[in-house]
Amino acid sequence: MSMLKFEEVTMKFGGLTAVNSLNLEIEKGQILGLIGPNGAGKSTAFNCASGVYTPSTGKVFFDGEDITGYKPWDLCRKGLARTFQIVKPFATKTVLYNTTVAAFANTNSRDEAESIALDVLKSMHLDHRKDDISGSLTIADRKRLEIAKAMATKPKLLLLDEVMAGLRPTEVDEMIDVFREIRENGITIFVIEHIMRAIMALSDELVVIHFGTKISEGKPEEVAQDENVIKAYLGG
Ligand code: ADP
Ligand code: MG
Repeated sequence: MSMLKFEEVTMKFGGLTAVNSLNLEIEKGQILGLIGPNGAGKSTAFNCASGVYTPSTGKVFFDGEDITGYKPWDLCRKGLARTFQIVKPFATKTVLYNTTVAAFANTNSRDEAESIALDVLKSMHLDHRKDDISGSLTIADRKRLEIAKAMATKPKLLLLDEVMAGLRPTEVDEMIDVFREIRENGITIFVIEHIMRAIMALSDELVVIHFGTKISEGKPEEVAQDENVIKAYLGG
């Protein structure tokens, strides 16, 4: 059974085709990595999955349901959560406040939202920062907060857009562990990441896009040896 499925998804901006007839499928409980050179259409594909954009043509299915044209807040309530490439928490609010706001996706009770938030912060090893102002966090902790906010909505599917960008190697290793813990909790993950060793280590399957078009897919070790992929990266 698939958690997310793209059927011939195309997204055009005026004359530019950012995503071109893309087919992909993520099995429940899997980690699917999406890679490709800068401007390949990765974030646009995420935006099509999470309802930020409605595809120009094609269909998106989430947990068996056609969700094409659904809005982000509807999808969030159904269990599809995402982070954005550009991190923007309410910088002047505390870590706990930001996470609690996200937890209201599933409850109207303040106490319940706060208790969900505290649990998630604990699992993200961020509880010791709960009373800190979000804007004062290190980059690594800000990325953790971004994931914590997504987790507080209790997702079935988590979309993570380059949450490892700007992290030091040891922080990347810690983040790989965070992803694995999330997956062990039964959450399916769709991930965009530029740091190759991380995406190779994490992904069950990889999809590679270039100029919006899928050029390769398969196990990380197969994709890494695919000539089309090597050419796309060397050619820029
Ligand atoms: P990636 O995430 O792979 O780096 P993007 O999905 O951000 O790539 O962008 C793919 C292409 O679509 C780029 O050429 C980008 O300039 C263009 N693009 C993305 N979003 C918009 C938009 N809202 N309006 C017009 N062009 C866009
Ligand atoms: Mg992007």
